[in-house]
Amino acid sequence: MRDALLLTPGPLTTSLATKTAMLHDWGSWDSNFNALTASLRQRLVALIDGGEHYTCVPLQGSGTFAVEAAIGTLMPRDGKLLCLVNGAYGKRIAQLTEIIGRQVSVLDFGETAAVDPARVAEALVSDPQITHVAVVYCETSTGILNPITAISEVVAAAGKKLIIDAMSAFGALPLSANNLDFDAVIASSNKCLEGVPGMGFVLCKTAALEQASGQAHSLSLDLYQQWRYMEQTGQWRYTPPTHVMAALMVALDQFDAEGGRVARLARYSANCQTLIQGLQEQGLQSFLPEELQAPIIVTVHAPAHPNWNFSEFYQLTKERGVILYPGKLTSAETFRIGCIGALGQAEMQIALDAIAHALKKMDICL
Ligand SMILES: *Cc1c(COP(=O)(O)O)cnc(C)c1O
Repeated sequence: MRDALLLTPGPLTTSLATKTAMLHDWGSWDSNFNALTASLRQRLVALIDGGEHYTCVPLQGSGTFAVEAAIGTLMPRDGKLLCLVNGAYGKRIAQLTEIIGRQVSVLDFGETAAVDPARVAEALVSDPQITHVAVVYCETSTGILNPITAISEVVAAAGKKLIIDAMSAFGALPLSANNLDFDAVIASSNKCLEGVPGMGFVLCKTAALEQASGQAHSLSLDLYQQWRYMEQTGQWRYTPPTHVMAALMVALDQFDAEGGRVARLARYSANCQTLIQGLQEQGLQSFLPEELQAPIIVTVHAPAHPNWNFSEFYQLTKERGVILYPGKLTSAETFRIGCIGALGQAEMQIALDAIAHALKKMDICL
């Protein structure tokens, strides 16, 4: 039987080919595995048109480990971060920056608006101590798309350095070093690249990394050391996520075969549209206005009905082979449906049918 469809922000549904790529054991010292690492690093740099100026530092762990490593390594100990927040992932960056003992100032836009570049420009003028700015490309807690091109322009104009958490956007939304200035972009294996969970990676300006020796707060989350070791030996510092790497390589082959980022974005956009329209036909409303909605994950208002209960709804859709995701908002009761993963129109229809079935069982007539 097919696994349940994961309509979640990751881990997400992977293809059979990607899963099958994990049926081998790899020695961490072996030249085949080193070649795999080198090739993956190059392919990831190529995805942002990073050319000679950027390098890829992969890191064991989930995406947050890579975010923490990037902030801790790239910021000098006396640096100050301006953290742009419009949801839980932005808040998480502010929190981890504070925990590792770097100064952080938060610019909060609430949960229902995109980051406003004009306010970022003002904040940079009013606080000259700021050295770095962090922004989330697609704020996965709501699905909001942030205007990173305009943000990168004001950050560059102020002479500051930009760190982009592109976790849920990388591989689908546009992101190129040719038209965007940033010191680092962070993403992971298990979102739009449709690999399995277990590693993050940071695409860094090599010049920024070269200056980062001794800055990290942590041994294992030191990207500079990870990078130096990899450059010198071709190997990972500490046990590599061998199966995750093998799966990501095959996932990237499928990404290329599909037609790359543009084709992937087109598939996710179609998924998103089908979902929003199908939900509307059932009387369910998506949370965000169209202009803020990234085609990554859709937040949906919970039905205003006395029978509504997310746990019961979740169980009922699960019985139909569809896994949904709870909401993450403080201001409204919502749930979320992912548009990403190895899923297309047929799967969106299965999800919509499962939702209709669940509402009917719960006696919710909208
Ligand atoms: C998924 C995600 C992360 C990382 O989450 P992990 O659970 O640590 O993998 C970070 N930022 C954003 C925007 C994300 O979507």
